[in-house]
Amino acid sequence: MSSGEIAVEVSRALDSLVGLSVGDALGQSFLLLGAAAEPLLARRAVRKERPWRWTDDTAMAISIVRHLNAYGTLDPDELAPAFADRYMAEPHRGYGGAARTVLTRIAAGAPWRREAARLFDGEGSMGNGAAMRAAPIGAYFAADLKRTCDQALRSAAPTHAHPDGAAGAVAVAVAAAVAADMAAHGALDGDALLAAVHEHTPAGPTRAGIASARSLGLAADPAEAARRLGSGAQVIAADTVPFCVWVAARHLDSYEEAVWTAITPPGDRDTTGAIVGGIVALSAGVDSIPAEWRRAREPLT
Ligand SMILES: [Mg+2]
Repeated sequence: MSSGEIAVEVSRALDSLVGLSVGDALGQSFLLLGAAAEPLLARRAVRKERPWRWTDDTAMAISIVRHLNAYGTLDPDELAPAFADRYMAEPHRGYGGAARTVLTRIAAGAPWRREAARLFDGEGSMGNGAAMRAAPIGAYFAADLKRTCDQALRSAAPTHAHPDGAAGAVAVAVAAAVAADMAAHGALDGDALLAAVHEHTPAGPTRAGIASARSLGLAADPAEAARRLGSGAQVIAADTVPFCVWVAARHLDSYEEAVWTAITPPGDRDTTGAIVGGIVALSAGVDSIPAEWRRAREPLT
């Protein structure tokens, strides 16, 4: 299909998916190195080994984009088995323990609602896994923030029953929607993006972290921001999403700068790269992603 035949909302979701997958794969290429990554990150030297493999962030985002393209809306009853099938086909994509449990059971025919709700002693997951795949939702619905929030909640439901796990998806989807809308109007404003994300994110620890990101201000040092807000070491939404939204807001005009800033602090580097990449590809433009990075990333399937 040529780009001229693709609806504009699908085209934006695909742009976001490219940004997300390149950020995921770049972040993962360093995560695999352990402590040896630090000197490379300090001088922003990309890995020479090819390809850079994408992980669960991209796998699940592909399912979301496919469903948006096919139906124009997300239905957890359809999305849950799609996530599970993709997991069963390629289980070694870095899925977390809780995701492996819930997706295995869904694949065996168990109802997603029950399985997602029983994780973590019945609290549900507040992990960053719903946030990591959410940027294309905001890309698709862009100007319609109410729909973006509703669809982000639907996208989170099959795996993240804890309200803060879902809040992470809402925050990232809203950031992507606002980034796309600002780009369409030619006026990027990081402070306004942070304010919109804060306004639309459901109350809880992730929203509190976004409030902290706002008071920190976009002029703050990224290392300090990562220390204060968290950069994904706990792999929960509240210690991943506020920093990612702050980084995206700070570097709306540069994919490269945004993604390096996201993956430099220690933490969940594939996911911070995926979240920020999926947002900033919309504001800076997908064509601003370095061609070398796009070539290095394993093809999407
Ligand atoms: Mg991952």
